[in-house]
Amino acid sequence: MNQMLTGSIDTVINLPKQVDPEVAADIEKESVFVSPHLERITVSRCRTKATVHLRSSGDVDEVIDKATRYLDVMAKQMTGFDIKVFLENARKDDGLYEPNVNRELAKRKWLHDYGKGQVAYTGPVLRLARLINETAGMLYEKHFNVFDGHFPSFIDADTLHKCGYFDSHPNNVTFVGNVIEDFDALEEFRKANSCSEGALLPPSEHIHQGGMCLNPAACFPAYPTLSGRTLDVQGHVLSWLGRVFRYESRNIIGLDRLYEFNVREIVFLGTDEYVRDCRKKALPLIRELAEHFDLDMKLQTATDPFFATVSAAKKFFQQAQEVKNEILIPVLKEDGTEKELACGSVNLHGSFFGERFDIKAADGEPAHTGCIGLGIERWVLAGFTQHGFDPERWPKAVRKRIFE
Ligand SMILES: [Zn+2]
Repeated sequence: MNQMLTGSIDTVINLPKQVDPEVAADIEKESVFVSPHLERITVSRCRTKATVHLRSSGDVDEVIDKATRYLDVMAKQMTGFDIKVFLENARKDDGLYEPNVNRELAKRKWLHDYGKGQVAYTGPVLRLARLINETAGMLYEKHFNVFDGHFPSFIDADTLHKCGYFDSHPNNVTFVGNVIEDFDALEEFRKANSCSEGALLPPSEHIHQGGMCLNPAACFPAYPTLSGRTLDVQGHVLSWLGRVFRYESRNIIGLDRLYEFNVREIVFLGTDEYVRDCRKKALPLIRELAEHFDLDMKLQTATDPFFATVSAAKKFFQQAQEVKNEILIPVLKEDGTEKELACGSVNLHGSFFGERFDIKAADGEPAHTGCIGLGIERWVLAGFTQHGFDPERWPKAVRKRIFE
């Protein structure tokens, strides 16, 4: 029997097994995508039970059924591998971490949060963002024979499909819509808005989706530009500042988790050996960057979540070992406790993109690829968290550029 909800009801579901702490955190985070009638899912301390917090609308049985299936798949995303730390940096500044950075930046009018995962910034925030991008770019230029590039924010669905994005992160995709090419529909839309107080969106049957998306991972737009090419013996390195969009539903928080953000990206393409060498060469540069901004940082094996699908669960287990590392920088949560913020990642993709986009290494085999992406706004948050608002606490070279 189906019951309709009248008030808020919590339901406890037993997990198929005890989950790892990382999986528990992913279950909670991704739960906003399970159903519009679900507020959130929280995992118990013992990590064997989950509480489904329902909203006061919707069919309880249906929501619980969805939540149960979701938990079942998520619980299979076992991590179970040892975390390996590849790099570490300890800051010299011995001052306390600054709490409530997002609020303080807004108070100083250096940051404007639109409330939907987009931010505007100016003053020291903008100068720091530019400096992080510029410093990373310069380090890459010094050590690699880099081609500078620029890529669009839009990406077509076919390219995303080729990149396997719909398979791994279907929840984060953003489709672009237009009003259909129809005189009456356009006139209806125009008229409705000419005298309305707020924006009136066209009915969904008047919105046309032509298969354009907003780019959700910095490196994707680079691969189609190299389709059909055979690369030089010395391989190929591209670097640029990309704008990235990931739909996060209700999970957005200040500079911690944005819907729209900037990524300094570097992509290596060539033989397997070449790409692995590049990765090895690039790791000390990440430490150099952390040293330059004087930040506590470590680079370690990642437990990157894919959204709950069975194939993703399998892939996760097979691939997560060595192919993805995360740059973790400690910041503070709203309650003042510390959390590790993923401020970038180092990825090896094998020959996946080389095969999908027909890019060949000099040996005639599908090119191997790897990339490093640095989330600029997260580095900015880390900077203000670890050095606060007294310019004296910042490294001299940085202080001069952002405060003076
Ligand atoms: Zn990438």
